[in-house]
Amino acid sequence: MRTAWMVPLMVLGAGLGTARVILGPPDMTVVVHLQTAGRGPGADVLEYARRTAAGMFASIGVRVAWAAPGEGEPANGLVLHLYVTDRPQTGHDPAALAFAYPYAPEKGITVMWDRLLAVCGSGSELVPRLLAHVMVHELTHVLEGVSRHSDTGVMKAHWTAGDYSEMMRKPLPFTDFDAELIHGRVDGTRAN
Ligand SMILES: [Zn+2]
Repeated sequence: MRTAWMVPLMVLGAGLGTARVILGPPDMTVVVHLQTAGRGPGADVLEYARRTAAGMFASIGVRVAWAAPGEGEPANGLVLHLYVTDRPQTGHDPAALAFAYPYAPEKGITVMWDRLLAVCGSGSELVPRLLAHVMVHELTHVLEGVSRHSDTGVMKAHWTAGDYSEMMRKPLPFTDFDAELIHGRVDGTRAN
């Protein structure tokens, strides 16, 4: 079983210098507009995934407010758009489950529900957990604003069977560096 994460416009920084530390807010709120299309996840799966994803972000001081488009627009703040669809998406790595555009966040995030089900098997208890992790992984790409992956945790480029087993017990964590990137305390373009 292979899982890959496609990030179009991939431009990995070549620099290996020490990350530049900048000050960011101590906590932040992100509004996520979630839309489903076609035969997407059922209400129970979606609610579990939303709750789990929010808990994962809460662990690093990020509050996620889920809203339908047009709702919850903050006066100033971050609004991200996330689509879950089973409509075939062409032009993407066949092993990818979702794609995001860290350098063009207005294009939104698309989770390919049909592919996710193919990985888990419909009805598997992994389905809502994997959906949560896919959401968090792609949202993090956009929040970090840079195309990069970590060696461990939710921002790994490829999850293994061991990672899936871990997801069944508890959510995969963020690395400290990913948390710092999300909070804007370090410059990801100079990350390793
Ligand atoms: Zn990724």
